[in-house]
Amino acid sequence: MKLLKEQIIKEGKVLSDTVLKVDSFLNHQIDPLLMKEIGEEFANRFTDEVITKILTIESSGIAPATMLGLTIGAPVVFARKRKSLTLSENLFSSKVHSFTKNETNDISVSKDFLSANDNVLIIDDFLANGEAVKGLLEIAEQAGATVIGVGIVIEKGFQKGGQLLREQGVRVESLANIKSLENGKVEFYD
Ligand code: 5GP
Repeated sequence: MKLLKEQIIKEGKVLSDTVLKVDSFLNHQIDPLLMKEIGEEFANRFTDEVITKILTIESSGIAPATMLGLTIGAPVVFARKRKSLTLSENLFSSKVHSFTKNETNDISVSKDFLSANDNVLIIDDFLANGEAVKGLLEIAEQAGATVIGVGIVIEKGFQKGGQLLREQGVRVESLANIKSLENGKVEFYD
C-alpha cells in the first residue's frame, strides 16, 4: 500500500535492526485519513470472504480494525490484556509474549462476543514473531469460530511470524512488508 509505505519512510523511526517506531500515525497519535484507507484496503483484500467479526488486541490494533469494521459493517472485538483471570469465568483466554515489552500477558475476550457462528478476520498493527496473532487464533479456536485470515498493517518479513503462520495455512495479508531495518534504513519487499 503506497500511502502507508510513504508514511513509514517519512515518519518512521528505526530504533534498532528489529524495531520500528511509528508513534506519529499508528501507535500513539493516529492519522484518521490513513486509517480510513487502511480499513478500505483490508476490505478489498478480503472482499471474497464473509466476515462477521473482526478480532484484534488492545491497543494499537483497535484503530485499523475499527476502520475496517466501519467499511464492511462488522463489529470489532479487542482482546484485553489482563493481569488476573480470576475475576470472571466468562472468558476465552490465552497468553501472549510481547516482542516490544518482553513480558507475557494473559489476554482475554468475553464469551458474549465470539461464538462458533462467527467468521473471524484477525487484525493487528505489527507482525513480528507471530505471538499476538497466535494468541488471537487460540481465542478464536476456543470459541469454535472460523478464522478466514489475518490482516496486518506492518509485517516485518525478516522475523519469523509471517512464515510460521503461512506454513500453517493461515492466510496473511500485510499492507507493508519490511525486508530490513539494518543501518537505520527501512527497506520493503516489493
Ligand atoms: P509479535 O507478537 O508478532 O511478535 O509482535 C507483534 C506485536 O508486537 C504487535 O501487536 C505490536 O504491538 C508489537 N510490535 C512488534 N514489533 C514491533 C515494532 O517494530 N514496532 C512497534 N511499534 N510494535 C511492534
